[in-house]
Amino acid sequence: MKLYPLFADLSRRAVLVVGGGAVAERKVAALLAAKAQVTVGAPLLTPQLESLVRKGRIAHRAGVFEASWIDHAWLVVAATSDQALNAQVAELATLQRIFVNVVDDAQLSSFHVPAVIDRSPVIVAISSSGEAPMLGRLLRERLETLLDHSIGPLAALAARLRKRIRRRYPDLALRRRFYQKLLTGPVAELLRRNQPEAAAAAAEQALAAPRPDAVGSVVLVGAGPGDPGLLTLRALRALNEADVILHDRLVSLDILELARRDADRIEVGKQAGNHHATQDQIHALMLEHARAGKRVVRLKGGDPFVFGRGGEELEFLHEHGIAFEVVPGITAALACAAYAGVPLTHRDHAQSVRLVTAHCRSSMDTLDWAALAQERQTLAVYMGVAGLETVQAQLLAHGRAAETPFALVENGSRAEQRVVTGTLADLSELARRHDVRSPALLILGEVASLSRRLAWFGAEPLGAPVASEPAAPPRVVPRIPRRAAVETLRAIHRA
Ligand code: SAH
Repeated sequence: MKLYPLFADLSRRAVLVVGGGAVAERKVAALLAAKAQVTVGAPLLTPQLESLVRKGRIAHRAGVFEASWIDHAWLVVAATSDQALNAQVAELATLQRIFVNVVDDAQLSSFHVPAVIDRSPVIVAISSSGEAPMLGRLLRERLETLLDHSIGPLAALAARLRKRIRRRYPDLALRRRFYQKLLTGPVAELLRRNQPEAAAAAAEQALAAPRPDAVGSVVLVGAGPGDPGLLTLRALRALNEADVILHDRLVSLDILELARRDADRIEVGKQAGNHHATQDQIHALMLEHARAGKRVVRLKGGDPFVFGRGGEELEFLHEHGIAFEVVPGITAALACAAYAGVPLTHRDHAQSVRLVTAHCRSSMDTLDWAALAQERQTLAVYMGVAGLETVQAQLLAHGRAAETPFALVENGSRAEQRVVTGTLADLSELARRHDVRSPALLILGEVASLSRRLAWFGAEPLGAPVASEPAAPPRVVPRIPRRAAVETLRAIHRA
């Protein structure tokens, strides 16, 4: 972080604005809104500024800038059109250790003025550290539409009740839950509909309602395959409400970033071959934190019920009388298929899909290979990469054609995604050649041949051409890097 964000209380504090033009006028208006004591220093003022002087709202130092103007100011704004003068003001202010903003000159400024969304008492300020002010403004426009105008009254209501809420809910976890309901439930809705009295009454009612027990709960949440955009809204909400997050190793950092800042994050990653020991520990951790009254999020890669042992975890919670909820996630098979351009079913190629796990020898021994080797079905195999040879050998031995296409998706949906395509005959050889690593998912079946035409995300698929693939029509739109694409879109937009 290049800049330290700061909200300054300027009420009745002296601020000097150097310059008397339109830019100065805007700066003065914002400073007056914050109740600063503004002095404008300039030989000439705009009519608007002059009128403020006449009304006694601001003071005027007429004439050419002098160093002594800066004395006693808490902040200085240099808003003249004379760059050399602005630089001089900045230098003199800096010498006196007074923060100075030079309009449109991030380098000379020791403080920046952010783009602001005002929902007083809530203020959202956006900075691009002076690097991309236009982006800051764009973000502000988006947030303006996102943060409706009831946020201000909602914050004011919460502030009014704050002491009483604290008295009623001295326990932090319970208090947080009460706030969560207050700020997202019916009270907020009434304010959105512009019914402040009804909202206040509903808040009083909520405060008078019996206190819930301090028993925690567990939400089993599917985090999807890695791309945070594939989280569900419910998953996001659970992450925002969590006191403790027990997450798998596979859950990406980008997703953990979205969770409540002060939630405890505990990685409970399971290493291959060490499943049982850690599974018991996971159970014990869930129980310990839920019994302590915490809202526990058990965060799993993909979907919690697809090869995630979510079922076992719920059985355990059920046995111990802990309340739970489940938030489904996008499982690796669906994500990898989508991001590799492989429709899992297709009228011409496959009428069924099987999700199969081949993580260890014992799971592979129990698989019905004859059934898995049938044609016109798609296999989505969740696996450690070491298992590929067995998968290949068993499918071939049970009659799946050697030319059956596959797409092997490594790090599906993530920026570093790679897709290797080929035919069953070369499966393990190609995986070795391209050094495919975990996490990777194998999609095998007639549909996999479509990947070479329909892939749209990340790098082009690797691997030898697929024998059974129909000749691909030439791509009409050449694949261009994302950044170039964005530039092109912008140019079109501007035109
Ligand atoms: N519950 C998870 C699966 C857990 S098993 C889900 O629904 O997706 C772990 C296996 O999932 C990995 O060995 C790999 O085969 C697959 N997997 C998970 N995330 C993946 C990703 N981003 N790309 C490719 N495969 C992935």
